[in-house]
Amino acid sequence: ATASEPYDVVVIGGGPGGYVAAIKAAQLGLKTACIEKRGSLGGTCLNVGCIPSKAMLNNSHLYHQAKHDFERRGIDVAGVSLNLPKMLEAKNNAVSGLTKGIEHLFKANKVDYIKGAASFTSPTSLSVSLLSGGEQSVEAKNIVIATGSEVAPFPGGAIEIDEKQIVSSTGALELQQVPGKMVVIGGGIIGLEMGSVWSRLGAEVTVVEFLDAIGGVGIDGEVAKQFQRILGKQGLKFKLNTKVLSAEKKDGKVYLTAESAKGGKQETLEADVVLVAVGRRPYTDGLNIEAAGIEKDSRGRIVIDDQFTTSQKHIRCIGDVTFGPMLAHKAEEEGIAAVEYIKSGHGHVNYNAIPSVVYTHPEVAWVGRTEQDLKAEGVKYNVGKFSYTANSRAKTNLDTEGFVKFITEKETDKILGVHIIGPNAGEQIAEGVLAVEYGASAEDVARTCHAHPTLSEAFKEAAMAAYGKPIHM
Ligand code: FAD
Ligand code: NAD
Repeated sequence: ATASEPYDVVVIGGGPGGYVAAIKAAQLGLKTACIEKRGSLGGTCLNVGCIPSKAMLNNSHLYHQAKHDFERRGIDVAGVSLNLPKMLEAKNNAVSGLTKGIEHLFKANKVDYIKGAASFTSPTSLSVSLLSGGEQSVEAKNIVIATGSEVAPFPGGAIEIDEKQIVSSTGALELQQVPGKMVVIGGGIIGLEMGSVWSRLGAEVTVVEFLDAIGGVGIDGEVAKQFQRILGKQGLKFKLNTKVLSAEKKDGKVYLTAESAKGGKQETLEADVVLVAVGRRPYTDGLNIEAAGIEKDSRGRIVIDDQFTTSQKHIRCIGDVTFGPMLAHKAEEEGIAAVEYIKSGHGHVNYNAIPSVVYTHPEVAWVGRTEQDLKAEGVKYNVGKFSYTANSRAKTNLDTEGFVKFITEKETDKILGVHIIGPNAGEQIAEGVLAVEYGASAEDVARTCHAHPTLSEAFKEAAMAAYGKPIHM
């Protein structure tokens, strides 16, 4: 396309939201381009988020198991030691393989990949500052903004991230040495995942959390408590109800000043490395949305309606840069729905059926409502729980910590929420999501045959417990 020949769809941003939207648009027969300035596709998730963190979580878990868990399984391995450069290399290889894979998918689906930073010059035109130098102007009938999010800085600029000693998640994926003492500010998902990685590799990790529970937004209170107990047994230390105020670097160390969340008593925490994990914020730098005539809310999110449409009908917006949970699979669902709206006027995302997963060990996963939400709303519900200690496969695997918990509507048995803390929770939750999506009752799940011996039997038995009794507990 040239400036005089507009694309049907131009997607700004090549993250999970943007690249999926671009591929889907091309598959629907729309002439499509995707503009990405990073130099590689996949956005935050593939380059500095989901993928590298899961590579580090998996390999640090295997290392930790080999070192501390193999012996009781009858496996004697002498001299287990960490080769951190190699572990980082394995992570980098996973990232580069997957980002190149998307480039291949763009070619296969005939998506034009424009490498550069896009900026609106009018509601239908963009100027792209090309990575190879120079500018390209791009005209579009429809635009999908998918510019994602960035690390939220520490409030008030009191702590400056240098990505070496005071790191964000990005620096925490690149540490060249295992820190002696690591303090994690924020007990949300990033704090717990990256804290687990470095704890398993040998760091003494303390997580400081402002709230009275770990796990971030949406976690069930009972799960959060059990989660903290289990991570505590693994060696992570927690300071809840504690607010970090500032940091000072001195003699190769970082000294953090913290106080009780209610104010008052101050204390100093010493660290070799500090991870700042206090959230992410929408990213629109350089996009010049003023020229497009669209709005942001007070939190920097681009404002859209329930069809992902901004105040300009031909400009839609998806993923981390707009409302909703900052999750890759949420961005992907929105990417598909947004281009389906462009093509046919119809699209759909069920926000009640979006899973959350924390990839620690054990994993924590959930979909739908929590007990504390329902209590607050006065909804009458039943709870069915089944513990992995009573599951045969978990027993054979010597991996029995955690439980499955169903929350159902009292009167109808309809599943309102499923919460899992346990081995493979992140895979198992897919069945819960499917059940919620199809409006299933707990009895529907309980009367579905689950293979023996599998962890999924704990899922079935928790469903049985929600309206009656489980067999094995
Ligand atoms: P992004 O992935 O942020 O992509 C936006 C892209 O747009 C970027 O590549 C950026 O360079 C580009 N861009 C921005 N402005 C412009 C412009 N003007 N011109 C051209 N290009 C532009 N989510 C999960 O679901 N599971 C996980 O396990 C998980 N783990 C995570 C771990 C970490 C450490 C982090 C930080 C995040 C994690 N997330 C996870 C969150 C996930 O990464 C995001 O929700 C997801 O990447 C959002 O996708 P997106 O497409 O909206 O934006
Ligand atoms: P978060 O919002 O989940 O957690 C931040 C935590 O920091 C909160 O619990 C908050 O109370 C606490 N906090 C804030 N200020 C503090 C202070 N001064 N002192 C102590 N505690 C403080 O954010 P995150 O963990 O940075 O993650 C960012 C986003 O990335 C989230 O939206 C998350 O969904 C996404 N993500 C997802 C995954 C996954 O799906 N597995 C993994 C990593 C990141």
